[in-house]
Amino acid sequence: MTKIKKIGVMTSGGDAPGMNAAIRAVTRTAIYNNIEVIGIREGYTGMIEKLFTPLWSHDVSDIIQRGGTILKTARCMEFKTNEGREKAYRNLKEVNLDGVVVIGGDGTFTGARIFNEEYDIPFVGIPGTIDNDIYGTDYTIGYDTALNTVVEAVDKIRDTASAHNRMFFVEVMGAEAGFIAIRSGIATGAEAIIIPETRDEVKKLNALMESGRRQRASNIVIVAEGDEEGGAFVLANKFKKLYPSYDIRITVLGHLQRGGSPSAFDRVSASRLGFSAVEALMDDQKSTMVGIQNNEIVLVPFRKAIKLHKDVNRDMLAIAEILSS
Ligand code: ATP
Repeated sequence: MTKIKKIGVMTSGGDAPGMNAAIRAVTRTAIYNNIEVIGIREGYTGMIEKLFTPLWSHDVSDIIQRGGTILKTARCMEFKTNEGREKAYRNLKEVNLDGVVVIGGDGTFTGARIFNEEYDIPFVGIPGTIDNDIYGTDYTIGYDTALNTVVEAVDKIRDTASAHNRMFFVEVMGAEAGFIAIRSGIATGAEAIIIPETRDEVKKLNALMESGRRQRASNIVIVAEGDEEGGAFVLANKFKKLYPSYDIRITVLGHLQRGGSPSAFDRVSASRLGFSAVEALMDDQKSTMVGIQNNEIVLVPFRKAIKLHKDVNRDMLAIAEILSS
């Protein structure tokens, strides 16, 4: 018998499609095990300002297909202070929470880890971020949906680029990581993929343009927003000056990448992770993320998930280069 009687669930940091599916899975798994559930609204702000709502099975009906998060999310500076976390602890104690499932990215896990070093309410994490940049899990909730959104958008850009023999620099999300850029680049047959992790790609693009080989054709260059050279605007303007004979345009996909109905893959992953997060709390886990590795559920300490760097798959870059040549 688990000693867990009541848990909280919260979404924090950047929103990602599939967070609702995770909230639903946490709620229904807990209720199945006779555990009460409290929804904590607006990330860590909700802990500090007591934004608590009980969640029953019917409260999570009809949300598996919805983007965003019914609990809303926030970036909360106060939780970074000792006073903020103390206030949060007092409030969680007041409603008798025996554990909390936090759904978010590495910032969310950093806060949870610090809290678990200071206080005795266990936190378990579910990776939810479109960037897929969390160590210890092959996929994060929202990544697959964002990828599909990007592919759909770039296909449309390709149509108009082809019609006019234009080159488009398309900026995708990924402040510090090129996961979305690489996969979407391969899936759309991009001529170049520029990501923060490597320096060679800009040189290769230079060589391609220099050769004039693709001057009378459409060209798609996918640029991760966090690239060191600057985003799509900076890069495109540089190339415009260097190669005036190319008709260069820019599209920044921006926040549309965060929205939309989650893909089947994200819904299933979120359901598995939500289920496993409640089981982890019942098994007395704390300061731990549930992740997916090789299609198996794994437990990864926050310490590792935060500290260790998840590298992009370099083979994918090589494949992209060969296939676009
Ligand atoms: P995403 O990857 O989508 O941006 P994230 O979880 O990394 O998601 P952040 O804004 O970095 O998003 O972090 C979410 C929240 O976690 C912060 O607003 C803050 O409340 C808390 N947090 C982040 N870092 C710390 C920290 N060092 N100490 C305490 N709390 C933190």
